[in-house]
Amino acid sequence: MGSLTNKTALVTGSSRGIGRATAQRLAAKGALVVVHYAGNETAARETVESIENDGGRAFSVRAELGVPGDVHELFLGVEHGLKERTGQTTLDILINNAGVTTPAGVAPEEVSAQEFDRLFAVNAKAPFFIVQRALSLLPDGGRIVNISSGLTRFANPEQVAYSMTKGAVEQITLHFARYLAPRAITVNSVAPGITNNGSALFDIPEAVEQMSQISAFKRVGEAVEVADVVTFLATDEARWITGAFIDATGGTLLG
Ligand code: NDP
Repeated sequence: MGSLTNKTALVTGSSRGIGRATAQRLAAKGALVVVHYAGNETAARETVESIENDGGRAFSVRAELGVPGDVHELFLGVEHGLKERTGQTTLDILINNAGVTTPAGVAPEEVSAQEFDRLFAVNAKAPFFIVQRALSLLPDGGRIVNISSGLTRFANPEQVAYSMTKGAVEQITLHFARYLAPRAITVNSVAPGITNNGSALFDIPEAVEQMSQISAFKRVGEAVEVADVVTFLATDEARWITGAFIDATGGTLLG
């Protein structure tokens, strides 16, 4: 039996990248995992299949975040799927991972109001309302982990708008940690550095070499290395940690 047996978990944006690795890790510890995605059904199916092939339990839910009705649609799927499999809608672990970034090479002068609004809608507004909506499903002792970014502590002018959204994510952590402490629900932020999420960029050796230079270990992170940190925070062993900013950047912030 894993330490998360009989627990349920929602990982937003777990069709790919860090979210997928987190879903796999939580499932390996015994949790029933909701694999959420926006549109990449094939990738979501692959995540669920990989979990099932390893003996775990998962199901997928599609809901595009950052559009009207997004959180309602997400939770319709989450509650329906949980009810079908467990007979109830208890959600023990919520991982707010789904996110969008600004394309590289966009100077601060070039950020449009439309792009700014989209970044905030997906990365900041959706996680806030997901937490709000999950409050009635989370039992005492539940867990919330919000995925931030090392960019809240490491200046990169091309990512100013994106980094602002992650600053907002960290505020969700701070204030909900206080709010939910009476229920022994912990709320923490995990900040990855540059992490191989399986996208085409990480197939270009020159790009990887350049990105590797910013971490203390002189390599890019692997999605599972962030997933392991997130998964630890979801366990009982992490019950005394709340409101924290966990640096999972491979020492990038050491300078
Ligand atoms: P990926 O780009 O690999 O995957 C993004 C995931 O989010 C996918 O599952 C995608 O679903 C989902 N998603 C994207 N947009 C939406 C949307 N509008 N509505 C619903 N779901 C959506 O992500 P990463 O693994 O790179 O990043 C995961 C988190 O980590 C993000 O919050 C990111 O900001 C953060 N982070 C990542 C870093 C990195 O270097 N990778 C560094 C620092 C922070 P679908 O497959 O259907 O498109």
